[in-house]
Amino acid sequence: MTALKVEQSGAKIIDGKVVAKKMRADQKAQVELLQAKGVTPGLAVVLVGEDPASEIYVSRKVKACEAVGIKSISYRLPATISNEELLVLIGKLNADQNVHGILVQLPLPKHIDMAKVLETIAPEKDVDGFHLYNVGALVVGRQIFPPCTPYGVMHLLEYSDIPIEGRNVVVVGASNIVGKPMALMLMARDATVAICHAKTRDLGQWTMLADILVVAAGVPNLIVSQMVKTGAVVIDVGINRLPDGRIVGDVDFEGVRKKASYISPVPGGVGPMTIAMLLENTIISAQRFAASDI
Ligand code: NAD
Repeated sequence: MTALKVEQSGAKIIDGKVVAKKMRADQKAQVELLQAKGVTPGLAVVLVGEDPASEIYVSRKVKACEAVGIKSISYRLPATISNEELLVLIGKLNADQNVHGILVQLPLPKHIDMAKVLETIAPEKDVDGFHLYNVGALVVGRQIFPPCTPYGVMHLLEYSDIPIEGRNVVVVGASNIVGKPMALMLMARDATVAICHAKTRDLGQWTMLADILVVAAGVPNLIVSQMVKTGAVVIDVGINRLPDGRIVGDVDFEGVRKKASYISPVPGGVGPMTIAMLLENTIISAQRFAASDI
């Protein structure tokens, strides 16, 4: 068990790039094993419209697939595509034996019924873990695919040998894709979990209780050192672009690192893990496919 004490030099940095790189080597080996059985893991990546941030995320995911031997198939669709056309494409991908994972990059244009799109993806190919079945199954610990970002945070905690059982965890942010599943995963590991959000009164009163603080609000500098308990583990999920172009998280990194025992940076913390877990889910899907001999 890792003692949660502050190092003389400040918090230990939880380096997501290093963890993701280690995982990549193993993932490559697993893909080679699958290929020897005649199965190349396939990930369909669907991007609707031309949101610049989404373009960047999608190209990173495609590149990461290439690095481990997953075949990614990109569908770049105009923002004017209709609901029906998008659903037809997903239906085709569901039926395609060479596709083991389907990722629809969010957000979608306003006229698209996102809930319907996510529900149309076959749960056994829902490598993002956003299908209602996977969301519900997470509550009872039977998910087919855990959602990538909180799953990546769990890996970072495990990799850093940070005990979870019995710890006080505060999750700041209650979205369906990060905050809520994060809280469920930590609860499944017997942590005592509180979730805070934009309507929480006196946020600092809650965050001060946290042995492990996970922040996913999308607000730069939301968490400053006075809000953090000495020796806490701080995981920053936020990704914010400042007017000067810099990318920062939700945590005042320089201030909080002096007080925390562990801290994840932005960039280079949770971000690389989200992609690593997407690859992991896609490979697992292909392994299930190969084992079922469909
Ligand atoms: P979201 O906007 O859907 O949800 C934000 C949540 O934070 C909401 O529950 C909201 O109530 C809460 N919140 C907002 N302001 C707050 C405040 N002042 N105090 C307390 N809570 C507040 O966002 P999301 O999709 O969950 O993403 C959150 C952040 O994480 C964003 O910065 C996003 O870019 C980032 N993100 C990173 C990754 C990654 O791979 N690292 C993946 C997904 C999201």
